[in-house]
Amino acid sequence: MSIEIIVGANWGDEGKGRMVDYFAQDADFVIRYQGGNNAGHTVINEYGEFKLHLIPSGVFSKKTINILGPGMVINLQSLVEEIQSFQEKGIDPQIMISERATICFPYHQLEDVWEEERLGKNAYGSTRRGIAPVYGDRTVKKAILMGELLYPEKLKSRLEQIVKWKLQIARGVYGKESPFTFNEIWEWTQKWGGLLLPYIKDTNKILEDAVRAGKKILFEAQLGTLRDLYFGIYPYTTSSCTLSAFAPIGGGLFGFKPDRVIAVVKAFSTCVGEGPFVTLMEPEEADQLRKIAKEYGAATGRPRTIGHFDAVATRYGVKLQGATEVALTKLDSLTGRKVLKLCTHYQFEDKIFEDFPINPILEQSKPIYIELPGWDEDISKVRRFEDLPKNAQNYVIEIEKRIECPIKYISVGPEREALITR
Ligand code: GDP
Ligand code: MG
Repeated sequence: MSIEIIVGANWGDEGKGRMVDYFAQDADFVIRYQGGNNAGHTVINEYGEFKLHLIPSGVFSKKTINILGPGMVINLQSLVEEIQSFQEKGIDPQIMISERATICFPYHQLEDVWEEERLGKNAYGSTRRGIAPVYGDRTVKKAILMGELLYPEKLKSRLEQIVKWKLQIARGVYGKESPFTFNEIWEWTQKWGGLLLPYIKDTNKILEDAVRAGKKILFEAQLGTLRDLYFGIYPYTTSSCTLSAFAPIGGGLFGFKPDRVIAVVKAFSTCVGEGPFVTLMEPEEADQLRKIAKEYGAATGRPRTIGHFDAVATRYGVKLQGATEVALTKLDSLTGRKVLKLCTHYQFEDKIFEDFPINPILEQSKPIYIELPGWDEDISKVRRFEDLPKNAQNYVIEIEKRIECPIKYISVGPEREALITR
């Protein structure tokens, strides 16, 4: 038996999907434990290239059951369409949905858009998929759970009450007279929810039995430490907990100590959405790296903000994940750069920071860099650490020293096999 958790240690888009796809090859279960279809996890393997939004990245492994855990928020239509898109490519996704996961409705999406518009230049940079409103509703006890779809009579009366309240908010806060009706929402729920009924289960029980039977279980996080609701760059975070510590709750499996927590770290910094970002690259340099590394959001297509490697943020990111090891991704994207900058400390007024501060300090912090020489050799075919150019080895070793966690995996291309194990 083994229980492993794969998480992001940065701002998201570190390459978690490709690592989960790799580790899932011999996993019995993969569980996505938070987030919704704001996720974009890219996987490239023998089946082609995929961007996964709700379906866990273990879906390519025939022996693996993929669970959408109780910590997730699920847009019914998006999930059905994602399942269908796999079926069209000849893959029948082996999935189960926790009866305790939350339904993300079209009115959550609308609310997300209206709120970002209301905020104007102070917007959070939301993916506008309804994620903050639906998690908000779960907290204020106005959400509907997936399992309620199995009891339509009770569901209908509860949903009716909630939609009435939502329409009051639409009118009072956003000045929208009747942007939707209960009947429209109910039809949507029946149409898409009806197609998902066979997948809805008491997944807690299934996982409990799996542990007893000695199965291999993998948890898959969405986003990264710096977007965590509690410990990220609040309020420019997501609305769920992205830490490995949340896996038992969001996954619905209790009383275990993970055998491994693998934090995925990118060899340079990127983020989508708003919020402070200390190691911002000069625009020209950033544009060049963005093109080489194809840094555009997998969920929204937005160009990602690009920065130098931030060891202050990443050390914090790795520590809060309780990582036992790190997978460093996209080392190949740095090939051809003369000099690589690595931020070791922040400076705020006359103070030097080694630890990641809260936003009021972060927003005014300046990076302190060390510089390392780059390399020109194509490393995408390298499969042993010793075969990397000396300067690439040194860059990895320097990062490892600064983030205080062993780097066990290094990826040198987006494909499953483009991976060095150390
Ligand atoms: P996730 O959300 O953490 O799963 O990451 P994304 O899929 O959003 O972003 C990672 C991007 O980098 C995707 O386009 C991947 O195909 C790509 N990628 C992952 N690892 C590597 C790598 O080692 N080299 C290169 N060149 N691209 C990679
Ligand atoms: Mg992504």
